[in-house]
Amino acid sequence: MASPVYEQLLTVQDLDLALLQYRHRHANHPIQQQITELDDELATYQTTADEISGRQSELSAKEAELASEVAVIEAKRAEIDAKLYDGSVTGTKDLLALQDEAEMLVSRQSDLEDVELEIMEQVEQVDAELAPVTTQILGLLARRAEEEGLLAAALAEIEQEISTSETLRVEAASPIPADLLSHYESLRDDLGGVAVARLVGSTCDGCHMALSAVSFDQIKRQGDDALVNCDQCGRILIR
Ligand SMILES: [Zn+2]
Repeated sequence: MASPVYEQLLTVQDLDLALLQYRHRHANHPIQQQITELDDELATYQTTADEISGRQSELSAKEAELASEVAVIEAKRAEIDAKLYDGSVTGTKDLLALQDEAEMLVSRQSDLEDVELEIMEQVEQVDAELAPVTTQILGLLARRAEEEGLLAAALAEIEQEISTSETLRVEAASPIPADLLSHYESLRDDLGGVAVARLVGSTCDGCHMALSAVSFDQIKRQGDDALVNCDQCGRILIR
């Protein structure tokens, strides 16, 4: 039977291993992976939405340009109408010239208005193109928000487990002599978390190797309180 302090070391090791797992799960939670995948999907849809919005802006700019051209023509036509009917122009030749100019302006305005109609149709098409993309983005954002909520709850639960295990670890480690604890900790970091193993017969259950006959004999002669290490892997052995 080994000294209780070594059994205590095994309890510390179990808690350290549990903490390692909790911290790993906290840092690599599967929900976080799902959120990352949603972000990738969102980025793809956002690129499409940006491209469509770009075309929307171009069309809006063209619409505004045409509207201002039409406004200029309308103002000119009003000016000509005024001249034609206010009696300020009396010569037949001048009146005909004004009438020609007015007709030319009407024709120009009609052409511009045709283009305006075409652009309005294009705006409708682009709006229809954007609508399903926006729906997808909103759906993904809602799913993301849901996953964020689930992740926060899951992480809070793990943090609680970590906090409990840390308290238990402090309690479990308190009766262990400082030099033994630091020997354990440095072995633990070198040996992937498992620094304490039981000796089963003459086999170390850390590395599953049989101890050499000489080493096994030496260990048997040591007192219960003595620190013995596996001659194969170096782990602290509990007898
Ligand atoms: Zn070993």
